[in-house]
Amino acid sequence: VVLASGVTACSVVNTGSSSKQSDEAKKDKKIVVGFSMDTLKEERWQKDKALFEKKVRELGADVKTLAANGDSATQLSQAEQLISEGVDVLVVVPYNAEAAAAIVKKAHDAGIKVLSYDRLIKNADVDLYVSFDNVRVGEMQAKAIVAKAPKGNFAYIGGADTDNNAILFRQGAMNVLKPLADKGDIKIVYDQYSKDWKPEEALKNMENALTANKNNIQAVVAANDGTAGGVVQALKGQNLAGKLPVSGQDAELAALQRIVEGTQTMTVYKPITKIANMAAELAVKMAKKETVTEAEQKVNNGKIDVPSVLLPPVPVSKENLVETVIKDGYQKLEEVFKYV
Ligand code: BGC
Repeated sequence: VVLASGVTACSVVNTGSSSKQSDEAKKDKKIVVGFSMDTLKEERWQKDKALFEKKVRELGADVKTLAANGDSATQLSQAEQLISEGVDVLVVVPYNAEAAAAIVKKAHDAGIKVLSYDRLIKNADVDLYVSFDNVRVGEMQAKAIVAKAPKGNFAYIGGADTDNNAILFRQGAMNVLKPLADKGDIKIVYDQYSKDWKPEEALKNMENALTANKNNIQAVVAANDGTAGGVVQALKGQNLAGKLPVSGQDAELAALQRIVEGTQTMTVYKPITKIANMAAELAVKMAKKETVTEAEQKVNNGKIDVPSVLLPPVPVSKENLVETVIKDGYQKLEEVFKYV
């Protein structure tokens, strides 16, 4: 409303000096970054939100964040809202990799660039992608589990198949597991995604895996800490928790406590400060129409090669959790060791 009345006033006066003024006003106008998130459910996304917003503000810009609670239609309408409110750039963590292409289209129609945050938007003209090396994440998970269980029956408990990352984590894990299965060292006896990354879906998956194999499972590669929580619960139900290795990802507090307790083997730490800061800096650059030189990699999203920044993940076990996650201030020592 304020903007509209300003425009009217300007066109009425319409002198050379006032249009010059409005040009200057435009130049000085604070940049606004729109942040469209899938969810705030997993602990990490709360950190992403807080750190991203903090960095954007430090850069002298404003930020508007909306979270869609795992719903494509909600995410699209929230993105439309941000666009209509006049954000200068849109940063999106897509709930659904394919459906989010509509967000990119809407943003581009309004002349706004889109940064895909952590998760890649598929089949769309995404301007920039900032994430971690997600195939490496999957490889790290599988490697750590194989180190504990070089032989036997393996279950793969994946994430949401609507999230491109879940596909990449599985791909990375299979890079390690498939050759071993082909050699006959291991057998992949269960391999399923877990709807919407829900721990209760992972719990059900693990129960099914155990039932189908009469509990004859020696190792579990779980895609993140939430799904690992579901897996450990299912194992507890059969008195198997702590008896077989289980992977995870995100360095969530509950997962680190399980690692200390011995029911989870490892997690993958992705320094959220780094992705949040990088994405904030590049989003503000894009909003200012400055060239982004940081995106040295390309990731194909089915339509184009998206200029990308992929940060390195860090595998974390009992042995190195103090010198990684704790040292970084990501989790607190007293909290991680609360139950020992
Ligand atoms: C993220 C993970 C997260 C998962 C569930 C993935 O896209 O990369 O860090 O655990 O989504 O939210």
